[in-house]
Amino acid sequence: MLAENFNCITQQLAKACINAGRDPQSVSLLPVSKTFPSSIIEQAIALGYQRFGENKAQELKQKAIELQQYPLSWVIIGHLQTNKAKEVARYASEIQSLDRLDLAIALDKRLQQEGRVLDALIQVKTSTEESKSGMNPEEVPIFLEQLKSFDTLHIKGFMTIAENSNNPDIVRACFRQTSELAEKMRQKTGLPLPVLSMGMSGDYALAIKEGATEVRIGSAIFGARDYTTK
Ligand SMILES: *Cc1c(COP(=O)(O)O)cnc(C)c1O
Repeated sequence: MLAENFNCITQQLAKACINAGRDPQSVSLLPVSKTFPSSIIEQAIALGYQRFGENKAQELKQKAIELQQYPLSWVIIGHLQTNKAKEVARYASEIQSLDRLDLAIALDKRLQQEGRVLDALIQVKTSTEESKSGMNPEEVPIFLEQLKSFDTLHIKGFMTIAENSNNPDIVRACFRQTSELAEKMRQKTGLPLPVLSMGMSGDYALAIKEGATEVRIGSAIFGARDYTTK
């Protein structure tokens, strides 16, 4: 069933790329395995996947330890408290939810101790929902300046979570705002900033239309999440 789901979403992503006039190779898939046990992730590993998104540092740590015999790359995509920087510095290879200076400082300190580096995306807040995290787009130019002093954080681009809305225009505007910001920041800084992580199971087609280079897909691959036992 997992193989079928991966095949299905891969085809859907290719279709969305073609509809948007884009090369299917230009969009990568980040499977989001949060809430699913290591035994399920092992099935995905058997299908050839090695990179997984998790939204909680503690869960990422547990799975990284349980699956340490595999050459995996763990990506943290959820809001991170500074007191969880240690787990992320030790076990993740990328953070997509970098959204404030004090988190960068905490990660840098721990990464230096671990002798590791992290790829990082700045998460920008494009929706009006209070519950969504991310940096205000207006603060990004200064943040990029500040980040220059952290050798341990390799800034690759931007991540956003669109408004949870049935109106495709509203959703699409969130993605467009992020890709426009990325373009502005490339011109301003001269950094390549090639990655735009935008789009989830419900809105990836719109994100691809607006230039996503990576989509984060959970439920369309692993099924509905069960939070009742957590
Ligand atoms: C859970 C999660 C996803 C995946 O969501 P689905 O709708 O299940 O595809 C993507 N991005 C972030 C930040 C998430 O927390």
